[in-house]
Amino acid sequence: MPYRAEYIWIDGQKPTAKLRSKTKVIPTGEEPPLWGFDGSSTEQAPGVESDCVLRPVFIRPDPIRGGDDVLVLCEVLTVDMEPHPSNHRAACVAAYERYEDQEPWLGLEQEYTFYKDGRPHGWPIGGYPAPQGGYYCGVGADEIWGRDVVEDHTVACIEAGLMISGTNAEVMIGQWEFQIGPLDPVTVGDHLWMARWLLYRIAENYDISAHLNPKPVEGDWNGAGMHTNFSTAAMRESYEPIIAACEALGEKAQEHIKGYGAGIERRLTGLHETAPWTEYSYGVSNRGASVRIPWQTAREQKGYIEDRRPNANADPYIVATLMTETICSALENR
Ligand code: ADP
Ligand code: MN
Ligand code: MN
Ligand code: MN
Repeated sequence: MPYRAEYIWIDGQKPTAKLRSKTKVIPTGEEPPLWGFDGSSTEQAPGVESDCVLRPVFIRPDPIRGGDDVLVLCEVLTVDMEPHPSNHRAACVAAYERYEDQEPWLGLEQEYTFYKDGRPHGWPIGGYPAPQGGYYCGVGADEIWGRDVVEDHTVACIEAGLMISGTNAEVMIGQWEFQIGPLDPVTVGDHLWMARWLLYRIAENYDISAHLNPKPVEGDWNGAGMHTNFSTAAMRESYEPIIAACEALGEKAQEHIKGYGAGIERRLTGLHETAPWTEYSYGVSNRGASVRIPWQTAREQKGYIEDRRPNANADPYIVATLMTETICSALENR
């Protein structure tokens, strides 16, 4: 029997790209081939020359359809088979190849917010919920909205063979997090983009939509980030490279901010467990610093660092490219 392949790709929308997908029915025994789409509908091409190419880069069993069906994450190429300008995976592959010998690993904490009926899930009509404080890792119908979706999503990620490492309810009402990794810079992005697609798709079943808006509600409500944990083999062995990595990130702070997701100025205000986007800082256990050295890393004098700046809506390929280039080039030249 033929099987179904869901081709998933990242579009060209600005300032934040969006996921798209469509289904191909493939004869038994054949691999998912190159495919195409109309780039004029995804802000990836003008109408007159609208063809773009989908090249499969990461194929997993489809946990929703089951059977022989698969999910096929693709990169977008032009018809000349060059990476499309919206394709940030290609640069990530190049950065990883350059520094593969340092064995960079990333772990991503993807925060997101559920919406139902046009407002954050759990937000009452025409008023305000109880102030945040009880929702983080909470339990009970007065504090938790959307847990069924979270549970289904976690199982789906595991069944698809994605390296999901945990989930938790977040500080703002209707807000959650899942973690992916640690994995190499390219693979962590592949797993995260596929996990994002599964989240949107599974939430559909509940008439709920998941959003990566970095600051869903203005005022005294936490934003949504994508804390990025990073290490190299040297950092996993001793402390000096940990400090060198924190210093290196400080040298390129504004360049990194530009690649860490649209609307970052609204989220990194200096309040709600963030450092202001205009200032760079690092510190042990400090959740008000740009970069945190976890206490276990300080105690064991080796481990990893957490860049707390990336937004929930950041592209993991761009974040991974920046961190790998900045940190690995600094460690290489010592
Ligand atoms: P937090 O305390 O900031 O909420 P989490 O437990 O949510 O931390 O996430 C920690 C992340 O760090 C996980 O994604 C995990 O995969 C990642 N991680 C663990 N060890 C390493 C390492 N050596 N290098 C990079 N990432 C790592
Ligand atoms: Mn976390
Ligand atoms: Mn979190
Ligand atoms: Mn964190």
